[in-house]
Parts: sequence; C-alpha cells; structure tokens
Amino acid sequence: MEITRTAVVKLSVPDKRCDDLKRTMNTFQDAAQRFVDRGWDGDDDGYVITSSNHLQRLRYDDIRDETALHADLCVGAANYAADVLSSVAEKMKDGERTSKPVFTSNTTVYNTNAITYFDGYCSLAAYGGSRVHAEYLYPNDSIQAEYMERDEWTKQGAKLRYDHQTDTYYLHVSIKKEREESSGEVENQTVLGVDRNVDGYLAVTSTGAFIGNADLLNHKRREYERRRARLQQRGTRNAHLTIQSIGDTFANWSEDFFHQVSKELVKEAVLQECTAIVFEDLEGIRNGISNASKFQQWGFNKLKRQVEYKAKAEGLSVETAHPQYTSQRCSATGCGFTHEGNRDGDEFTCQKCGKELHSDYNAARNIAHKFIQNRRKSGSGGATYHLALKSGTVNGTGDYSPSTA
Ligand SMILES: [Zn+2]
Repeated sequence: MEITRTAVVKLSVPDKRCDDLKRTMNTFQDAAQRFVDRGWDGDDDGYVITSSNHLQRLRYDDIRDETALHADLCVGAANYAADVLSSVAEKMKDGERTSKPVFTSNTTVYNTNAITYFDGYCSLAAYGGSRVHAEYLYPNDSIQAEYMERDEWTKQGAKLRYDHQTDTYYLHVSIKKEREESSGEVENQTVLGVDRNVDGYLAVTSTGAFIGNADLLNHKRREYERRRARLQQRGTRNAHLTIQSIGDTFANWSEDFFHQVSKELVKEAVLQECTAIVFEDLEGIRNGISNASKFQQWGFNKLKRQVEYKAKAEGLSVETAHPQYTSQRCSATGCGFTHEGNRDGDEFTCQKCGKELHSDYNAARNIAHKFIQNRRKSGSGGATYHLALKSGTVNGTGDYSPSTA
C-alpha cells in the first residue's frame, strides 16, 4: 500500500522572476477558466463535460493559441478544470443548486513535466517557455527537509500557491512512498496522536500528516457571517429566504469539509497500522468564549465525532489524553524537556536538546505519548503500546525501533 503526503515548502523566488511566475499563474487561471466555460456549455447531450481528455480535444489547441501558456501547464489547466467540473456534476446529481465555477484562487498546477526537483531548489515552467528556479526555504531538521530530501519519498506533481498578504510563494508537493509490511503482532498496539488547530492545518498527526486547511474553514465562516449580517440589516422577506439559503450552503460545505478531513485522518491511521487514534481531551474546558471560539470548539467536536464514526468501521478505537503541556514538552525520544520557551508559533525548538520540529507535529507526538503513559500507569492488560511516528515507532518506555524500510 502507498502512503501519500503533501509537503508544503516556502520558496525563495528571485525578485526579477516574480512577475513571470505571477503572469504564469494568471494565464493558467485564464486557461482553466476557458476549459471550464467550454465544459459548462456541455456535450452534445447537454451534460457538463467532466473528462479532461474530452475538454482537451475540444479546446486545447485554441486555448494554447489564445493564452500562449506552456504546453504542460495547458494540460494541467484542463485537468484542473475537469476536477472542478466533476465535483460540480456530483453536486448536480445530488440535487444541489450549482452555478458555473469561477477560478479566483492564486494557484498553478504543475505536472511532473512542468516542474523538476533538484537538491535545494526546483525549476518551474513559466510563461513564454522559460523556466524559473526557486530555492526551498526550510530548516535542516524540518519535516519538509525530510520529505524533500529523503529518497524514500517519490515526488510527483505540485501546486504553486501565492499568498498575497505575505507576498510569498508556497509549493504544495504531492509525495508518496511504499508502506513497509509489519510483523503484525496482535498484542502490539500502535497509537496515532492527533493535534487539532484553529489555524494552519486543522489536524496534524504524530506521523507528520498535515490535514485540512483550517484557514479556509475560518474564511468561509467569516464570509458567511458577513453576508448574513448584511441581509439581517435589510430585514425583508427575501433577505430572510436568502439567509436560509446561504446557511444551507455553508452547512453543506462544512459537512463535506469535515467528512474529507476525517476520512483522511482515518486513512492515515489505517495506513500506519494504528489501532487507536488519540485526540486531546478538550471537552468542557472553555466557557464564556467568543462566537469564533464557539465555532472552533464546534469544529473540533465535529471532527472527533466524524472520526469516531469512520474509525469504528475500520475497527479502530478513538481515545483522548489530557492536553496539559502537550505543546510545551519536547517529544524527542529520551528528552521530554518541558518549557513554555520551547515553542514559538509554528516552530518548536527544544531549549535543552535542540530538537527542531513543527509545533503541531510535536504536540501530536506528545498527545500519543501521554495516552501511552497513562495506559502503562493504569495497567493496560498486557498490551504494549507504540507511538506511530514518521518512520519507526517508540514504545511506552521510550525505546525506538526503526521501521524495516
Ligand atoms: Zn528536547
């Protein structure tokens, strides 16, 4: 079986090439929109076209002429359009109201012909047939370094995203590796720790999977609340009906969002051969909180419930551990130094042993660790618990066994 991941890598683009990448991105969007326009018009029977090959047959030559986009990016634009049209067609089948998709995000999709990965940098196809070289920006010991530099991970295509606020390019690289087969001892229980977050990624696992865009979730909610507030001020019957309708749309969207995230989380647990998924116990620790926090709490609970439901179908249990110190403790094997100065935003640097890792990843490891320690103390009926890590496992006493890759 295959393990797939997305490595998110910040890029350093030479100043004089930034405009080229931006122009490429705009042209890519323009091309994707043209494919969508054609697909939305439908085939001879009036159905929305959801096949990339079909879209390319109809429009590839014209769109390449019209946009002068790099050939591989033009194929990427057709694939991107086909994906979006497929999800719209699914919604139509479910009887949902839909409208023609409009591309607004700052994204370029690079297939393996349009991007080449080198040590420390990549080469990206750009407007007018040129290539742009961009350096990776990450600390040496980071999870990104491991994903990008270790041979066991095969790098596939990538999405380039531009963040307006910080004027930064991020590369989202799809990577995969073959999972090693394990010996399959029944008394060995492997535990997947999960850290839930209000921004960045909604869920981060002790195996280093970063799942669900929490910023997007927040953005959608704020957008919905702004629209609702405006309509409430208007106060007409029509406005009231529209409030109901946008409420339904948001509910459907978030339902789907949590469904996808929980599905990925359970998939990760299955792939890593875990028998339990452990969350922080966040029940009842917050009272008198803002609407935004209530929404986050609602989201955390929703995620846990959906994971419980799906985990059951896979024969996995869902457990909790007390959240105290999980963000301050160093999760490095044999260290465990706990200090509030260890953490600075997304970056965790142990003041004692110097271990550097993503804060949420560190917390996820601690959550699983804490659960295992509690089970050991309470006597777990003879089972040996292991903490699922990126490679290899750590058992309750802190002994590390590397995976047999
Ligand atoms: Zn440490």
